[in-house]
Amino acid sequence: MGTSALYPIFLIGEERADLQYIVDIDAVPRPDILWPSIELEIDPSYRRQLTGQRPFRAAVLRAYRTSCAVCSFRHSDLLDAAHIHEDGAGGLPVATNGLTLCKMHHATYDRRILGITPDYEVRINAEVLHEVDGPMLRHGTQEFHGQHLMVLPKSRAQRPDRSLLETRYQAFLDAG
Ligand SMILES: [Zn+2]
Repeated sequence: MGTSALYPIFLIGEERADLQYIVDIDAVPRPDILWPSIELEIDPSYRRQLTGQRPFRAAVLRAYRTSCAVCSFRHSDLLDAAHIHEDGAGGLPVATNGLTLCKMHHATYDRRILGITPDYEVRINAEVLHEVDGPMLRHGTQEFHGQHLMVLPKSRAQRPDRSLLETRYQAFLDAG
């Protein structure tokens, strides 16, 4: 017979159309509030989603205080929870495999135009670094070359895993 772990989580929302609950995995119960407790029989179709993209996004955006790690941009609907070890390649949906990135920096990261070193510094592909274009290229991309990430999780336990960054950074170097 298997063992199950029981621990409190907070369901902070439901997206019925997508069969998803939004789970707050970091919430700390406040002792001054008597929390209602319910026994919840989770539909199997929900349970699958509990390990999916939505809790990952919520956890990663929370860890980065809803700001792009590279540029600190703060509009949540233009922010993504990017995987370091890509999910299509088996990367896990955990905060240490995540970075909050704005749409622009997510796209440049995925296309190996922007790299992040294991020491949390930004690098721009050498070819793109010397292109001449408008302000999005200059201010939004090239000027971050050599800069430290602007936003990191306050909790060390949630910061990006350096070995995952190293592997991904190597792929960036190989692409350049
Ligand atoms: Zn950004």
